[in-house]
Amino acid sequence: MKEGWVEDELVMISALQHYSYCPRQCALIHVEQVFDENLYTMRGKRAHDPESALEEGVRVERGLSLFSERLGLAGKADVVELASDGTSYPVEYKSGPRRGSRHDDVQLCAQALCLKEMMGQDVPRGAIYHYTSRRRREVVFDGALRFLTQETVLAVRRMLLAGSVPPPVAGARCPKCSLLDACMPFALAGALGAEEAEARLYDLRR
Ligand code: SF4
Repeated sequence: MKEGWVEDELVMISALQHYSYCPRQCALIHVEQVFDENLYTMRGKRAHDPESALEEGVRVERGLSLFSERLGLAGKADVVELASDGTSYPVEYKSGPRRGSRHDDVQLCAQALCLKEMMGQDVPRGAIYHYTSRRRREVVFDGALRFLTQETVLAVRRMLLAGSVPPPVAGARCPKCSLLDACMPFALAGALGAEEAEARLYDLRR
């Protein structure tokens, strides 16, 4: 375990979701400080207002600050439900209808890893709450997801410390990306072949 992370080494939990969706999006936000306020971020801010309440026998914490000394990871949870036996159950709020998303799962799993370290108790599952459909999707934090999450923390830290911004890939994810205008993928991606650009974008070893 490494103690005393300096600020530049700390990885924000939200950066994991950005990186998983697109490393360039992560770099534009966390290296170049480009940020686009949209429905998702506005809703996220509302959900982060700190609050603690007892609801139907379950302690519900909103806007709880999270930290992992082991991973050098910090952020906030939209909601953490604390059962009477001390088990934590993180819930992340997302816009749109209920759908599976590896990117959201990595972000939620990072919250679970922080909670496990903070509470000293395993956190086996959590949920993504989808605003549009008003439904939850439960996520099990199995070994594969925990491994992917920890590898993503390392990849994000490497990218942030290097201050590098990967090239754009004009792909299917771009039209839904909140940074489409700032990124200009369709204007810039032509210089690299699409295959090489995709490989550079997601190569965790770089
Ligand atoms: S527009 Fe495309 S390449 Fe650019 S940051 Fe968004 S997803 Fe990544």
